[in-house]
Formats: sequence, C-alpha cells, structure tokens
Amino acid sequence: MEKILASIITIGDELLIGQTVDTNSAWMARELNQAGIWVQRRVAVGDDRSAIIQALEEEGRQSHIVLITGGLGPTADDITKPVLCEYFGGKLVRDEATYAAVMQMFESRGLPVLQRNVDQALVPDVCTVLPNRRGTAPGMWFGKDEKIYVSMPGVPFEMKGLMEEEVIPRLRERFETPALLHHTLITTGMGESFVAERLSGFEALLPPHIKLAYLPSFGLLKLRLTTVAPDKISAAAELSAEFTKMRDLLTDILVAETDQPMSAILAEKLMTKGLTVGTAESCTGGSIASQITALAGSSQYFSGSVVSYSNEVKMNVLGVQPATLERYGAVSEETVLEMAAGALKVLKTDCVMAVSGIMGPGGGSEEKPVGTVWIAAGGPGSLRAKKYHFRYDRARNIAMTCVAAQNELRKWLERSE
Ligand code: AMP
Ligand code: MG
Repeated sequence: MEKILASIITIGDELLIGQTVDTNSAWMARELNQAGIWVQRRVAVGDDRSAIIQALEEEGRQSHIVLITGGLGPTADDITKPVLCEYFGGKLVRDEATYAAVMQMFESRGLPVLQRNVDQALVPDVCTVLPNRRGTAPGMWFGKDEKIYVSMPGVPFEMKGLMEEEVIPRLRERFETPALLHHTLITTGMGESFVAERLSGFEALLPPHIKLAYLPSFGLLKLRLTTVAPDKISAAAELSAEFTKMRDLLTDILVAETDQPMSAILAEKLMTKGLTVGTAESCTGGSIASQITALAGSSQYFSGSVVSYSNEVKMNVLGVQPATLERYGAVSEETVLEMAAGALKVLKTDCVMAVSGIMGPGGGSEEKPVGTVWIAAGGPGSLRAKKYHFRYDRARNIAMTCVAAQNELRKWLERSE
C-alpha cells in the first residue's frame, strides 16, 4: 500500500514573529495521522504572494495532500484566496450557499453587512466549496496534477470544524490508507533509561511494524506503541496483545492504560469512589483547580479551591498557625500540612491537595532553592506531605507541580483502595 504523504502550510505574518503560536499544524497532524496519512512536512509563510506561491509549488511537489490554513479573513492583510485563485487559474465568483450563510449570520446577530463580508462568499470557480458552519470564510478544495490542496481559515475552531466535517471524510474517500493505531500507557516514578532497560527484551521481540516510543511528560513517562498495517481488525488485535505484554512488565509503575491528562485519571478514581476534592494552592495560583475544571462533569467531585498566595490568606482562610509560618516558613512540610487540613475543613471535601513552593526565577535561598515545592495530599487523618525539587523555569515548575500534586492524590486514592 502506497504511503499517502501530506504537507501543512500555515499562512500569517503573526506566526512568523511568534505572536500567534501555530497550534493548527499540531492538531491537523494528529488528525491526519489518525486517518493513516503521513504528515512529512510543515511550513509557515507570511501573508506574502510570492512566499505562498513558492510554498504551494514546493509542497505540491513533495506530497499528495497539501493542507493550508490562514489568510482568509475579510481584511486587506489576508491574501490567500486571490493568490490561490491565481495559482490554480480560476476567477472569483459568488458561491450562493456561502452568500446565504453570510447574510443569515449577520442578520441573526443584527449586524449590518459590509461589502468585505459579502466578498467572503467569493470563491475561485476552480474549487469545490466546503461549507464553514462556524464562520464566514468557506473551505476550498482544489485538485491539480493528481494532488489535493485544501485551504481553510486560520481560526482554530473554524478549521477544526471543517477538518472533522469535510476534509478528513473526503480524504478518507479519496485515498486508500493503512490502519495506523496507537496505544499509550503512562508510568510514574522511574526514569526512561531504567524503563528502557526493563523493556529491552520486550522491545527486541516486537515485530518490525510495531514501534515503541518513550515520551517523558511533566514528570511522568508515556510509552506509545504504534502499528501500521493494511487491515485494521488484525492490526488492533496484534497491538493489543503487545500492549498487554508491555503493561504486565510495568504494573508497579503504571498510572493509566490510555493517554489522558492527570486530571482525567483523578476524575475517574474520585467518581468511582464517590469522593469530593478541593485544593489549597499557593505557588500554582489555582492552576490545579483550573486543570480539574477543564473537564466537563468536574462538578460531580470538585468542590472548590483556596488560592492562598499570601501568608495572610494561609492564616485567615486556611487557619495556618502564625507560629508555623514563622518557624518553618511558607514552603515547608508543616505549613503545607496545615494548609491541607484547613482546606479540608473550609471546603468540606473528602480529600485535598495542597501546594506551597518557590517557582522562581527569584525567591530562592540556599536552604530552599528555586523549584522547592512541598505537596500534601490525602483526607482527614491521612494527610501526607512530600518535598519535590524542580529545576525549570517558572511556567514549567508550575506545570510540574500541578501534575505532581494530582499524582500524589492519585497514589493516596490507590492506597486507600
Ligand atoms: P486568518 O484566517 O488568517 O484571518 O486567521 C485568523 C486568526 O486565526 C488569526 O488571527 C490567528 O489568531 C489564528 N490563527 C491563524 N493561523 C493559526 C495557526 N496556524 N495556529 C493557531 N492559530 C492561528
Ligand atoms: Mg491572517
């Protein structure tokens, strides 16, 4: 079976100066990968005619499929549509369905329609129009020399809708692709080299079309098995058998048997046990609560959080003793345990996570360098604290603390099983 190759071109000056992070490419690459299509190149270009044409020529030479996002807005800085029209040798004509959708969208919002909005319904007469149900710029599907080019808006939410509803189904129909399956598990507490040592025998016996990848992720380690095979059903059975062998070698460090955020792993355990949770957060400023509430349905087990950044809030809201803060400091086992106990009382939850640490870049000392974090987790009568030391910048130290705290609570939930 021939490998179907894809390129992604993202267009926009904002991408080149780092003002907007190109999240579109990563998302599209994952979707294509799941559809059995190989993304082999990703390029970003500015809102510039010759750069866009050059990218179209080069990627059209390299790949069967070229997906393009950006530059379809109604303002003068966006030029992708006329450039595509010129490149594929068409002229701009009104697409009636898009015109009706644009008019309806403005009418329903009670807004006047400007000429530049009406012009969003102009499309090259050489493309197939893909309806955009979330915005005014439609997707455009072009064919040239057996290659497929699809242009989509840069707005991630609109692009995702078009990909899911139009582009991926059409690509699946157009190309015969192999089944490409992944199965990922998550481990904790053992470095990747040690895990690799343990798995060396298993890895050596893997069939050549199944690959094992090691992906360290915020203090956890993800292990991904990937297979590529013409038949989906037999590929899934074979992958599942290998996955079981791998999992059985890792039971002592296993966290989850699918790739999911720590907040989802906790959610499952809390719901199974019917327990509620809260957080007392100093150095993470509510980020743990934010990760928890990013999941739909979290109201079933999450009660609330105290963001106790200052000592005053630690004392006044959580009841941390002034003497504790004075004697041991805000970043200490004693303080974080009192924070946790106070949160259990104030939030009235079954269990809790509390964190206090120095995230940097300033604020460290010889005794408590930047990255020192105390984490407490547990329930009434079973609170335990653990010291961590992270070595990164502020943002990453915060991210590591969020995962570590949830991992400590996960361990407590498993201990009390
Ligand atoms: P455009 O289609 O060029 O009008 O893009 C509209 C908006 O989408 C831009 O202002 C960006 O905020 C966003 N955007 C464009 N390209 C990307 C991209 N590759 N990744 C994430 N966001 C993007
Ligand atoms: Mg733009």
